[in-house]
Amino acid sequence: MASRAKSRNAPVGHSPFEVAGERLPREKFSDPLVTADGSERAVVGLHKLETLWFATGTLCNLACANCYIESSPTNDALVYISAADVARFLEEIAGQGVREIGFTGGEPFMNPGIIAMIEDALSRGHEVLVLSNAMKPMRRHEAELLRLRESYRGKLTIRVSIDHHTQAVHEAERGPGSWQPMLEGMRWLSTNGFSLAAAGRSLAGETQEQALNAYRLLFDAEGIALDTADPARLVLFPEMDDEADIAEITTECWDILGKSPRDVMCSASRMVVHRKGEPSPRVVACTLLPYDPEFDLGDTVEEARRDVPLNHPHCARFCVLGGASCSA
Ligand code: SF4
Ligand code: SF4
Repeated sequence: MASRAKSRNAPVGHSPFEVAGERLPREKFSDPLVTADGSERAVVGLHKLETLWFATGTLCNLACANCYIESSPTNDALVYISAADVARFLEEIAGQGVREIGFTGGEPFMNPGIIAMIEDALSRGHEVLVLSNAMKPMRRHEAELLRLRESYRGKLTIRVSIDHHTQAVHEAERGPGSWQPMLEGMRWLSTNGFSLAAAGRSLAGETQEQALNAYRLLFDAEGIALDTADPARLVLFPEMDDEADIAEITTECWDILGKSPRDVMCSASRMVVHRKGEPSPRVVACTLLPYDPEFDLGDTVEEARRDVPLNHPHCARFCVLGGASCSA
C-alpha cells in the first residue's frame, strides 16, 4: 500500500521511472497511475454499490485445474468467513440501497455458517446470489434451502458453474466423476422451483452462438429449466490464456473500445475476504483479486468506496478486453 500511496501523490512527470527527463524502461502493471509507455492508466470509480460479495473461504470439494483462486479441499488461504462478520458488513450497508449480496468460494456450501449468512442477507431485504458447483456440499443443505426458497421465493438465486457443455471438457478441468453430480444438483434446483442460473465457458474454437445452443440442448435433454437466451440466467465466459501478454488499459481505451468504466465489475461491487493470518476481514476491489495488496481497499465498505486504478493484467484480460466481468 505504501508504494501505491507514493505513486498516487507523485507529481505528474516525476514518476519514479523518470530521471532527468529520460524515461527508463518500466514493466507493465507496475505503476497505478501510468502505463509502461507513459500513458495515463484507466481508473474506475464506484458508481453505485449494487452487489457486495463475500468470499466464504477457499476450501472446495473440487480442485479444478483452471480455478482462478486455486481452491481445493486443502487450500484455506481465505478462511471461512463467519456469520458474525457478514452481519457486521450487512449492518454497515443497511439503508444504502445495495441490491444484492453474493457468496462465492471455494464452495460456499462448505462454510458451516452459509445458511445463517444467506438468511441474514435475505431477511434484510437483499437479493442473494450463491455461486456453487451444486454437488454434495450443497445437497447436504436441501431441507434448509427449501425452507429459504419457501420464505423468500425468487430472492435467492443459485448460480451453478459448469466448465463446458461437454462431459469430457468439464471433467478434464474438474476431475472424473464431477459431471453427473453437477447435473443432478441442477436438476434438483430446477425441479424444486429455485431461481437457477448457470455460468459456463465457451472454448476458443466455438462461437458464442454455438456454445449457447449446446448449453440449451444439454439443459433440455437433462430436464433442467433454464432460459439460456437470458444473459442473467446463462453467463458464458470465454476461454482465456492467462499466461499470454496483454495490453494495459489507458484512459483513451474507453473511447477506442466503445466501453465505459461503468461496464466493469468494480464500478458496482466490492468483495469482503478473510485472509488466513489476518485478524479480521478486508474489503477488496472485486472477486478476481482477493490477495493483491494494491486492490485491498480497507476495513470497511465505506473506506473501500475509493477509485480503483486498473493496474493488474486481470483488469485488461478479463474485464476490459476479454468481456468477462465476473468470477467462478
Ligand atoms: S472453480 Fe469453483 S468448483 Fe472448481 S475448485 Fe474453484 S471454486 Fe471449486
Ligand atoms: S479485475 Fe476487473 S473488476 Fe477487478 S479491479 Fe480490475 S477491472 Fe476492476
